Amino acid sequence: MYGATERALLLDRNEVPPVHELQETGSSPFLFTCDHYGRLIPRSLGDLGLPEHELTRHIAWDIGIAGVAETLSRRLDAHLIAQRYSRLVIDCNRPPEAASSIPMISEATTIPGNEGLAPEAAELRRSLIFEPYHRRIDEVIDRRLRENRPTVLVSLHSFTPVYAGIARPWHVGTLYHRDTRLPPLLLKYLRAEPDLVVGDNEPYAVSDVTDYTIPVHGERRQLMNSGIEIRQDLIADQSGQQQWAERLARILGEIEATLRAEGLI
Ligand SMILES: [Zn+2]
Repeated sequence: MYGATERALLLDRNEVPPVHELQETGSSPFLFTCDHYGRLIPRSLGDLGLPEHELTRHIAWDIGIAGVAETLSRRLDAHLIAQRYSRLVIDCNRPPEAASSIPMISEATTIPGNEGLAPEAAELRRSLIFEPYHRRIDEVIDRRLRENRPTVLVSLHSFTPVYAGIARPWHVGTLYHRDTRLPPLLLKYLRAEPDLVVGDNEPYAVSDVTDYTIPVHGERRQLMNSGIEIRQDLIADQSGQQQWAERLARILGEIEATLRAEGLI
C-alpha cells in the first residue's frame, strides 16, 4: 500500500505542480484548456523506461501547442489552464477508467514504466496530476458561472503530421461532439482562410469513451465548446507558434463578435 511517504515520492514537494495558468483574471469569454501542454515526468518515475527521443516526440505531449496557447491567451486576455506532465504518465484527456489513461503502448512504442502498474500507483498519478488539473477547470467554470460571465470552452491540441505511417492532409481540425453552436462557426471561419485544409472532426472526433475535457467540462456544463487541433509541423518553431496564435486570435475575435451579435454570449 502507498502511505504518506510514497505519496510524497511520486511528486516531490519541490517539483513543479501539474496546473499551469495564464491570464487568470482575463476578460475574454474564451476559456482555454491544454491537456497535453507539457512533457514533464515526476522524478520518481525516471524516464518510464524510454530513451530521450521517445520522450520528446508526439507520444509524450502535443508538440508546439504550449507556445500557441500562451501567446493566444495573452493576445485575447483569455484564461488558460494547462497541464505540465506528460500524457505518458497519465493522459488528462482520457477518462481515468479507460485503458489509454496510463498507456502501455502509444503508437508503436511500448511504455515499460506503465507495465504491470499496481492500482495504488495508478491512483497516485490520478490524484496528484489528473485530479488537480480537472478540479481547477471545474472551479474556474463554477466561478465564472457564479459571476454570470460568458464562457466558451476551447481545448487546444496538436497532432502529428504522420501517424502509423499515414500522412495527414489537414493543417487544422475542429474536434467536437454535442455542441451545435461553436463548431460550425469555427469551421466556417477556418475554411474562409484560403491557405488551409480544415478537418471537420479530423484527425480525431470527440467521444465520451476516448475524451474527457470536452464531454465533462464543456458538454455536461452546457458550455459552448470545441477542440482545435493544429498540425505539429506548422507550429514546431516559435515563428509558427506566433503565426498560429495570431491567426486564431483574429478568428476567435470574429467568432466572439458573431456570438455577441446573436445574443449567445
Ligand atoms: Zn492533445
